[in-house]
Amino acid sequence: MVPLPLTGGCQCGALRYEIRQAPLMAYNCHCTNCQRIGGGAFSTPITVLEAAFAFAQGEPRTFEWTSDSGTRRFGWLCGTCGGRIAHGGTPSIGVLSVRSGTLDDTSWVEPVGDIWTRSAQPWALSSDRIGYDRQPTDYTPFVERFRKQGRFAV
Ligand SMILES: [Zn+2]
Ligand SMILES: [Zn+2]
Repeated sequence: MVPLPLTGGCQCGALRYEIRQAPLMAYNCHCTNCQRIGGGAFSTPITVLEAAFAFAQGEPRTFEWTSDSGTRRFGWLCGTCGGRIAHGGTPSIGVLSVRSGTLDDTSWVEPVGDIWTRSAQPWALSSDRIGYDRQPTDYTPFVERFRKQGRFAV
């Protein structure tokens, strides 16, 4: 079992955070914003309750944009190194997408599915994962599959 809280931070270490409850899921996002933000083919966020997330050190800068599905999103990033920590909805949707590569321990992160496959690189997809062309309206299949991985005591 992965112990809680989960901890992580940005590249330079100015921002440090804690996540006090088990994540709901881990997946890959192939949207065009994630491609530009990370400079790679996709991002692998973990979804956590906003109330379970707190910065333990540092104050993030905030940047807002409109998602590929037309909703307003915000990102928390480090003002020193520019590293992105997490994204959320504005107004709040109750959950955050934490960029899993910022975790101190990334060994347990295994994405259960892919979203925005319409803008994915073909080589980045796998038939082992659930895929959605765009943003799914219901993430229940992701949540259920993540729970079956059994990484966290629930
Ligand atoms: Zn930093
Ligand atoms: Zn995305």
